[in-house]
Amino acid sequence: MTDIPATPRRRRATTRTEAERFWQFVLKGPAAGDCWLWTGAIADDGYGRFWTAGVDGKQKIVRPQRYAYTALTGRELTPDVLILHRCDVPLCVHADVDPEASHLRPGDTSDNMQDRARRGRQPRPSATLRFRDLPRAERARRSRALRTAVLERGWDAAAIHGVLSGVDPGHPTLF
Ligand SMILES: [Zn+2]
Repeated sequence: MTDIPATPRRRRATTRTEAERFWQFVLKGPAAGDCWLWTGAIADDGYGRFWTAGVDGKQKIVRPQRYAYTALTGRELTPDVLILHRCDVPLCVHADVDPEASHLRPGDTSDNMQDRARRGRQPRPSATLRFRDLPRAERARRSRALRTAVLERGWDAAAIHGVLSGVDPGHPTLF
């Protein structure tokens, strides 16, 4: 994975492959366990979107976490397989073949609901909501604020923490 740029970089569009174009939108944290944050388009659900050429040359919109998961693990995802964020950061695309290292894991709808139920039962230090349990508009707002922060400041742990702090201050993976 050393061929993935650590920071976004510019190249002439005509020379870029789709994968290069994808990773140009990703800002990777400096530590091995850090999130890799999508800085491209963000839809109103707070999750990223990436336009690919598609198989027949028609543009196709994919979720960056799905693109990254397939790119880094080689596993093609059928539509019934969800990609869940272990780190609870919707913009994160940190996939790895090692499930322990990966921030993304495949699951299905029942996994997703069990996850929520399990987390809902755990005592929390404050009344903070997990990112994905936020109302859609608030999740989109925070995702866009996070993107703005990293585009303006690069990987600034304090700035990132500031955006995420209302979400889960005890996040073990980011910091
Ligand atoms: Zn992450």
